[in-house]
Amino acid sequence: MTEPLLEVKGLQAWYGESHVLHGVDLQVHRGETVTLLGRNGAGKTTTLKSIMGVLRKRQGEIRLSGKDLMNLPLHHIAYAGLGFVPEERGIFSGLSVHENLLLPPKVAEGGFTLDEIYHLFPNLAERRNSQGTKLSGGEQQMLAIARILRTGANILLLDEPTEGLAPVIVQRIGDVIRALKAKGMTILLVEQNFRFARKVADRFYVMEDGHMIDTFRADELEGRMDSLNETLGL
Ligand code: ATP
Repeated sequence: MTEPLLEVKGLQAWYGESHVLHGVDLQVHRGETVTLLGRNGAGKTTTLKSIMGVLRKRQGEIRLSGKDLMNLPLHHIAYAGLGFVPEERGIFSGLSVHENLLLPPKVAEGGFTLDEIYHLFPNLAERRNSQGTKLSGGEQQMLAIARILRTGANILLLDEPTEGLAPVIVQRIGDVIRALKAKGMTILLVEQNFRFARKVADRFYVMEDGHMIDTFRADELEGRMDSLNETLGL
């Protein structure tokens, strides 16, 4: 098998004195969509924040295309090609959609052009002059993803992209993820919404109490349903 695009080994992390991740291993290969499942508080968001270096108190190995990210300063990590879309979305609410799309810095070749963004997100094209504050939750989520696509990041880290969104918008986000997969994008997704996750993921990891307790491919999902029901309380 080829070298993973993203490889995490033995990751531990702390909030102050509180030890939250206890040795997390995970790999994402180029072109894969991988979903991290787990109950509230299992450590999914903390895993993403530790990979991004937002949470600094951590130990272990984090590599992107073999390159060590652990010791890089925070402002260099995005430039290594990791594109993080946080749960709180991080768009500029005082700026228009179009302005939000003009601002992201280019971190690598292959960032989406404005035309490509507006083609992938027709609703953003319609709202291009609307201020961030005027957007619906779904539009904000689309804009947050679109901003990362503009940078040329070679892996997208999405933290609960469907959180608080109406079912029809969740479907639209699913369509976007499938379109990105078709373009060969690599995606690591944290998701509470299992019904959504199972429609987009190629592979799953399951977390519990800061540990990775299982991993399996989408075609192995049926056989895992009983244990997943128990772990996730589905
Ligand atoms: P959720 O869906 O609720 O975000 P999660 O799996 O993403 O769940 P995390 O947010 O990573 O879980 O939380 C893991 C643990 O770390 C939990 O016990 C949580 O209470 C704790 N935690 C999260 N954020 C902080 C913080 N800023 N300070 C201290 N403890 C925190």
